[in-house]
Amino acid sequence: ISKSKCGKCGNAFNDDKLYFQKHSGVKFCEECFIKDTKRKIRKNLGKDILKNHITIAVGISGGKDSLVMAYVLNEFFKQIPNSKIIGIMVNEGIEGFRNDGIEKGIKFCEKFGIEYHIATFSEYIGANLDEIVNIAKEKNMTMNPCSFCGVIRRKILNRVAIEKKCDYLAIGHNLDDISQAVMMNYIEGDIKKLAILGKSSNSDKFVKRIKPLSKIPENEVKLFADILKMDYHKAPCPYSCLSYRSEVSDIIDMLEEKHAGTMYSIVAGYERLLEHLEVPGDITLCEKCGEPSALKICKVCSFLKDLGLEKN
Ligand code: SF4
Ligand code: ZN
Ligand code: ZN
Repeated sequence: ISKSKCGKCGNAFNDDKLYFQKHSGVKFCEECFIKDTKRKIRKNLGKDILKNHITIAVGISGGKDSLVMAYVLNEFFKQIPNSKIIGIMVNEGIEGFRNDGIEKGIKFCEKFGIEYHIATFSEYIGANLDEIVNIAKEKNMTMNPCSFCGVIRRKILNRVAIEKKCDYLAIGHNLDDISQAVMMNYIEGDIKKLAILGKSSNSDKFVKRIKPLSKIPENEVKLFADILKMDYHKAPCPYSCLSYRSEVSDIIDMLEEKHAGTMYSIVAGYERLLEHLEVPGDITLCEKCGEPSALKICKVCSFLKDLGLEKN
């Protein structure tokens, strides 16, 4: 095997131990790659977040993104007095899938001494996702498990983060996730969603969401996890129906392959555009659950009502 020098520390390594970052043209040894990735995440968080008396709720699924995020945040915050992170896991109740992820999440939190909390769909809405899908089937109602699941999970994460008095809620979306979401909203012409995607409201009903991995591409998150031999959950969800997103993702990957840095420029351009977008009007609250909603009764509550799962 031939050897090359790491572009950061200058030491020579076997080529299979070096990572070539195409968009920057730099080769990294493992140690320098880990260091540089942490530096980027720290810079992305900024001084307003990395300070005393901050509690961050970290959404943990057990997958590589959430574990890498929790690992780095924990390392940062354990050095800051009176600040900490709390892991929040949401068990949707998906047979043969989620329990494995939760198990990995628990093991991880225990290994690193991270306080954690597990919330379930059942305790919040009276049924788990498998049951909801079955009831919908029996009633001949069409539903996309993902859109329902995502909304409920967001609500639960937000509610637990409020209960635990957290200042921020950290979500493990990486650069690929965000560039895909941006492009999907562009293509669909959904300016409102585009604005919501990037801006957090100032309402006290919402814990401010942060995305510490938003500048790290997915392959680098995976590399980070693999170098540190992290034990993360890999199986895909049985309901995952990502067809449109994966088409968009294929296009972006193709462009990235030919023109390294495409994903960064998609997100950078979007961030510049965001300064000119207005956050949609005043937030109204759902009459049933009190959560922020565009309609009098939020989508989730009206869906639960149609399913006969209405609470109170
Ligand atoms: Fe929920 Fe869809 Fe994710 Fe499965 S893939 S956990 S159904 S959002
Ligand atoms: Zn190096
Ligand atoms: Zn509601």
